[in-house]
Amino acid sequence: MRRVFKKILIFVIVICTLWYAAELKGINLNKIGLALNEKYKLLNLNNTSRKKELVLVNIEHGLSKDYKPEGLTTPNISFATGVNQEEKYVAGIIAKPIEELVHAAKQDGIILLGNSGYRSYKSQNDVYTSRIKSEGKKLADAYVAKPGFSEHQTGLCIDLTNKSSNFVKGTKEADWLAENCYKFGFIIRYPYGKQDITSIEYEPWHIRYVGKEAAKYIYDNKITLEEYLAQSKK
Ligand SMILES: [Zn+2]
Repeated sequence: MRRVFKKILIFVIVICTLWYAAELKGINLNKIGLALNEKYKLLNLNNTSRKKELVLVNIEHGLSKDYKPEGLTTPNISFATGVNQEEKYVAGIIAKPIEELVHAAKQDGIILLGNSGYRSYKSQNDVYTSRIKSEGKKLADAYVAKPGFSEHQTGLCIDLTNKSSNFVKGTKEADWLAENCYKFGFIIRYPYGKQDITSIEYEPWHIRYVGKEAAKYIYDNKITLEEYLAQSKK
């Protein structure tokens, strides 16, 4: 009788051990799966075969010191006073779309002025270091990207302003831009309430060219470029 009991006990222990091992393996596999997903997401964000206008530059994804956009050109729009020549440049691909956007705004009685387009690595370095001097590192980090990590180095974005240089939410210029820029292939790159994703405070003046298809999708779904790239696997 004892022998039978012993056999049953061993049997139960073996079954329990096997079950536990299987469970453990399952958990590990799940963890590996998650890790792969995370890795895939990151690889996805760095996809080099992606369309040029969908390049991602943010706090985690930088450009080399020597990166210069193709076909830098000054678009035929009005600029705010004091804008230097370098910042009047934009990548060739966005010159026409920005001209069309500014023209369409004018048709609606909205005057938009160019304020800052392309910024070289060196210029960004100058802006960043001078902001640290004037406002301290905390505020500089919240509003100014470190050199190599500014979207302005791509030439695919531009800061716009209005005649009073007061381009904030609620002004007719900022509201027009937020509602219409997607029609020309641009997005508000740092929307309100998305700082946790973009790592940049809300900037109603900074528009980024991504092409009409992506811009419409991003506008319709109220998402950021980061979320779009992660979702669309582009
Ligand atoms: Zn900007």
